[in-house]
Amino acid sequence: MPNPEELAVGIDLGTTFSAVAYLDDLGRPQTLMNAEGDKITPSVVLFEGNDVIVGKEAVKAMATDMEHIAECAKRELGYRMFHKVLGGRQFPPEALQSWILNKLRADAQQQIGPFQKVVITVPAYFDEVRRKATQDAGYIAGFEVMDIINEPTAAAVAFGFQQGFLQPGRQDDAEPRKILVYDLGGGTFDVTVMEIGGHDFVALATDGDVQLGGRDWDQRLVDFVAEEFIRKFGSDPREEPNTAGRLWRECEDAKRTLSARAKAGIACDYQGNAVRLEVTREMFQEMTQDLLDRTAFTTRQTLQAAGLEWSDLDRVLMVGGSTRMPAVGEMLTALSGQEPDRSVSPDEAVAHGAALHAGILLAQFHGRSPNFRIKNVNSHSLGVVATDSKTKRPRNAILVPRNTPLPVTAKRVFKTQKANQRSVLVQIVEGESASPDDCSQIGKCSIRDLPANLPAQTPIEVRFTYQENGRLTVQVKVQENELQHEITRENTLTQDQLDSWRQYVSGVAGGQ
Ligand code: ADP
Ligand code: MG
Repeated sequence: MPNPEELAVGIDLGTTFSAVAYLDDLGRPQTLMNAEGDKITPSVVLFEGNDVIVGKEAVKAMATDMEHIAECAKRELGYRMFHKVLGGRQFPPEALQSWILNKLRADAQQQIGPFQKVVITVPAYFDEVRRKATQDAGYIAGFEVMDIINEPTAAAVAFGFQQGFLQPGRQDDAEPRKILVYDLGGGTFDVTVMEIGGHDFVALATDGDVQLGGRDWDQRLVDFVAEEFIRKFGSDPREEPNTAGRLWRECEDAKRTLSARAKAGIACDYQGNAVRLEVTREMFQEMTQDLLDRTAFTTRQTLQAAGLEWSDLDRVLMVGGSTRMPAVGEMLTALSGQEPDRSVSPDEAVAHGAALHAGILLAQFHGRSPNFRIKNVNSHSLGVVATDSKTKRPRNAILVPRNTPLPVTAKRVFKTQKANQRSVLVQIVEGESASPDDCSQIGKCSIRDLPANLPAQTPIEVRFTYQENGRLTVQVKVQENELQHEITRENTLTQDQLDSWRQYVSGVAGGQ
């Protein structure tokens, strides 16, 4: 068995499907099959008595046991609890994600032996809270999460590897390539413009939607069938969970058929009534056109944010299972004037890139020099809540605009308002809106135990640092002294909670 400390493992923890890859003896990324013999594992969790079942078997139970199934928990990272009660209780989305990670590990270990260090991927458009929640899910699963990496970046790295960019000894003076990665998965949409020059992967701009993916295309078919059912029989099959679960599977299947064929049939039985509908590819494209248009709009904006024209792009790279829908390729061809690149596997590229990144981190860890570098940008502006001097209302004072190269540190000086003030509270948000309520709440940073007897208007310097992976750290200085502070996050688990979930989910004691 290989040394666990040397195993470079990357995990694509997708909304609907997950994949694991590692680097083989020659440093090539290889996807590891799961126990069912598949390269991707449905990110679906079934609670059955005391058992937790993840993957294909959980999907099968959607027709009979929908009440005990959690799906798309990734979409709810950043909330305190997953919306559904499962086996009599609610779970934080991190815990549900960690059960998926557990299954992935158990299956991967069968082939490569035990390992603990991993890189997990996140949508580029994930905010800081969701990034932390992903790292926490890894912790609960008993992993040492070396890093998180943006999914489109990972796909670009896999592409670069495949194109031979990462070969040792390759000349660095070649013209940098500009590529656009369009990643349409099951639950999220991400687009990133990157420059690959020599051994550097540099993100220029990124955008996306954490609530847009193949699931929304499925939903349109589900609604279409349900409405037809209502028209005919007056009852709604979506109301009964198992019928809804079955219908969902039927519709997702029909959607896949429509990627290969001109029409597909969908059947729905409910309360002794049945409909069978035929859907053509044209009908399907029409009923989902607005979804596709949303991705086109975001793609155009991202290119603009990168300061590029379509003609500047060397490649348009498609990843994510939903790019198998012919309408996606057609839209991108029309938009960009070039055939999109389908050379990387849409299901595996992200996991491969994560494994390559894991390889780099391990190499650095063992004192070897890496053969490529990744440079990232922040996907959301970072701000603090300030009071507008005119309106006296809270507003988002942006410190780091989105698409700023990372790492970056922004400094802001706050002043004590009165003499002998002992604490200051700084509220940190991410988002583009001027109104803090429309932004993602990172948390409140309370700076306490300020030295006694400070005069009013004493400057307090607060430095916000985004690391390369989009995670945030804060430092506070008063009169040249570094001060302790604490960030209180709202919908996140405390270290104690993380440790007890870790114990519960994976039987690993935390805190070591
Ligand atoms: P994620 O990473 O968000 O979980 P994936 O990249 O694995 O998503 O893509 C999964 C999505 O791709 C699902 O919504 C699935 O229905 C869709 N998909 C997979 N194959 C096809 C296909 N042949 N035609 C249309 N959609 C597909
Ligand atoms: Mg994905």
